[in-house]
Amino acid sequence: MYKIVSKTQFSEKVYQLEVEAPLIAKARKAGHFVIVRTNQCGERVPLTIAGSNVEKGTITLVIQTVGASTSQLCAMNVGDSIMDVVGPLGKATHIENYGTVLCAGGGVGTAPMLPIIQALKAAGNRVISVIAGRTKDLIILEDEVRKSSDEVIIMTDDGSYGKQGVVTVGMEEVIQREKVDKCFAIGPAIMMKFCCLLTKKYEIPTDVSLNTIMVDGTGMCGACRISVGGKTKFVCVDGPEFDGHQVDFNEMLQRGGAFKAEELTDMEAYEKHLTDTASTKAAPEASAAPTPEEAKKMDTTTPLAELTDRNAPYREELRKSMKAKERTQIARCQMPELDAEYRATTRTEEVNKGLTAEQAMTEAKRCLDCANPTCMQGCPVSVNIPSFIKNIERGEFLNAARILKSTSALPAVCGRVCPQEKQCESQCIHLKMNGNAVAIGNLERFAADYERESGMMSLPEVAPANGKKIAVIGSGPSGLSFAGDMAKAGYDVTVFEALHEIGGVLKYGIPEFRLPNSIVDVEIQNLEKIGVHFVKNCVVGKTISVSQLEEEGYEGIFVGSGAGLPNFMNIPGENFNGVMSSNEYLTRVNLMDASNPAFATPIKKATNVMVVGGGNTAMDSCRTAKRLGAENVYIVYRRSETEMPARLEEVKHAKEEGIQFLTLHNPIEYHADEKGNVTEVVLQKMELGEPDASGRRSPQPIPGATETIAIDQAIVAVGVSPNPIVPTSIDGLELGRKNTIAVNEGMQTNIPTIFAGGDIVRGGATVILAMGDGRKAAAAMQEYLNEKK
Ligand code: FAD
Ligand code: SF4
Repeated sequence: MYKIVSKTQFSEKVYQLEVEAPLIAKARKAGHFVIVRTNQCGERVPLTIAGSNVEKGTITLVIQTVGASTSQLCAMNVGDSIMDVVGPLGKATHIENYGTVLCAGGGVGTAPMLPIIQALKAAGNRVISVIAGRTKDLIILEDEVRKSSDEVIIMTDDGSYGKQGVVTVGMEEVIQREKVDKCFAIGPAIMMKFCCLLTKKYEIPTDVSLNTIMVDGTGMCGACRISVGGKTKFVCVDGPEFDGHQVDFNEMLQRGGAFKAEELTDMEAYEKHLTDTASTKAAPEASAAPTPEEAKKMDTTTPLAELTDRNAPYREELRKSMKAKERTQIARCQMPELDAEYRATTRTEEVNKGLTAEQAMTEAKRCLDCANPTCMQGCPVSVNIPSFIKNIERGEFLNAARILKSTSALPAVCGRVCPQEKQCESQCIHLKMNGNAVAIGNLERFAADYERESGMMSLPEVAPANGKKIAVIGSGPSGLSFAGDMAKAGYDVTVFEALHEIGGVLKYGIPEFRLPNSIVDVEIQNLEKIGVHFVKNCVVGKTISVSQLEEEGYEGIFVGSGAGLPNFMNIPGENFNGVMSSNEYLTRVNLMDASNPAFATPIKKATNVMVVGGGNTAMDSCRTAKRLGAENVYIVYRRSETEMPARLEEVKHAKEEGIQFLTLHNPIEYHADEKGNVTEVVLQKMELGEPDASGRRSPQPIPGATETIAIDQAIVAVGVSPNPIVPTSIDGLELGRKNTIAVNEGMQTNIPTIFAGGDIVRGGATVILAMGDGRKAAAAMQEYLNEKK
């Protein structure tokens, strides 16, 4: 929590807050911004840092009330605490001695301009500041601006203070009077546009600071994207300052209105819910809840070595109890699931209901307890599959969970989202006999759920503390599994997470109808119980650097920062309102609960939605759109269904829920109405050619074959790239293909104390591969640190 230590009202709608945020105060420079979330229901709002006091550990924010979120923030008082403040984000202003610099601040834009004015003056420039507002009330920070300027010109639209006229009138007066070498302009988009038109006429280079819509502020969603010099840039990581002569301000003005209607509704909802900040998230239903008596009867004292010994008497007895032929004749048990029509109306109810104890025990009988369990070769974390299944067969569910947890930090998660059909189940002996694989994933989920619901969750054994501090960057599955293994080995582990929630994609990406948040939370609580510390709102590389972590005594660092940067297709019209990345869409809905009226983050509930892509992210997006009430949801994929990388179950569920599959189609252009809202997409029809580098048949356009469909929302799910913030912040770190981090077989980078794993090493991959990397890195780091001493 970030305490407000002082509050000043500048005008009816403009306030200054001084907020305790010592790490940000220390790291910030002119031009940086923070993302602020007022309370649990609040949206993530970007605000430029107007100043800081390193001794007091505070930053200053100047806020104008424009919507529900800024109204909530401005309604807070001294002593109140803001829930989340993350930063400093963005690139710092480039400061040098230009000569004479003209700084134009419009309205509340004077606040972010102030640190730039101060830095320019300190660099030896002659600084002329023009500060403007509609009326005298809206002229802010005049004294502070005067202190660092050689001259200050005040402009008001109504002439109530200073000179009458808009900001450009004051600027042009200076430009005509003397030579100006450089301009900076910050204020409303329309003001910056006219400042740039003016300075372009006089050929004066001009930098502007763009205040676009953002969600995460670290490059993860792409909501802030804008065309600069004909190329799409992310304001949060490439900016916020750009060459103003290159910025497409018309596009920026249109994109600024993307959620106007929803924001109005949110403002009304905020007024209604002013005091109600409680979450209304639904809890998932229990699937296998045992009675406490049943669970207590289970003996969980048998050593793991005995439970996993294929020659243990219980295993031999089980094998003898039924012939292999009888086992293979049992049909694979179907996962009970919610009715498709009903479930397409509920976003938080899990689709799969889980096996009952009886179903699980029957399914477990299908496993032949092979002497050479090929299924294990398909598991990246080497779960002892036959051992946990045989414990389910004999009704020892808690022991089955113990076996799972000895190698997997997140069994309830893996049981739900791992592509088992491509991993363990693809290697099951039943397939070689033309049967269906044992439902390993469903059994894993059963055992993990049973244990959780029994209230008798076991914690792994933890070695005595060795006093060595280890840092983990990112709290996705790779970071969590690494943290778990290191904590078990006695290390003092702290996980640093950029977002306000722990869990990475498990929380912000995968929807609750597939993976309830409460299940991820239990796994995180278990890590806390074994001593793992979590620090949220901390962007390593921005809030704190890797060298600062080393100075603070962290002897090993694991980077699990994921591949959160969304790819776009770079086709005409992709920046129209209503076209967004799947990361933005899913983050709004999952992390920010945007479709819940009590939450401030807006989301457009569209009627005709197109989702581009064929992976899990595309399936999650289209099924979410259906749940938000869309009438027509299309999956547009350039290859055929056979090549779709999504889990088979997700494709099946999407079809049952009424998603329309347009395979062998590819978007080539969007059309929009006069307000810039997307209305249509042109699709190129495709056919399959020869296999490409990925081994899949490559999609080829059929000349002249196109189709146009009406849409009011497009969600682009065509892959992700590694997030560059951590890799680019570590001097000398060797990078791999497409800006991934290069590692050896022990997940060690070229800097011996830094290890990495998961999507930051592989590009977008899977939960289980990320977890496998975390485990491998933990083992290799322990070996390295032991050798070092
Ligand atoms: P992530 O889960 O991406 O976590 C990285 C974390 O690091 C994030 O929380 C991020 O905020 C944080 N971070 C980034 N930079 C910093 C920084 N500078 N400082 C601090 N923290 C930072 N896989 C499956 O196996 N099955 C599925 O069904 C499946 N469905 C998916 C659905 C969606 C919508 C998406 C997006 C992915 C899906 N995946 C699925 C892929 C899977 O989720 C990822 O491969 C996996 O989460 C990668 O784990 P990770 O630990 O590498 O990173
Ligand atoms: Fe059981 Fe199939 Fe693994 Fe054999 S391969 S041990 S049958 S899950």
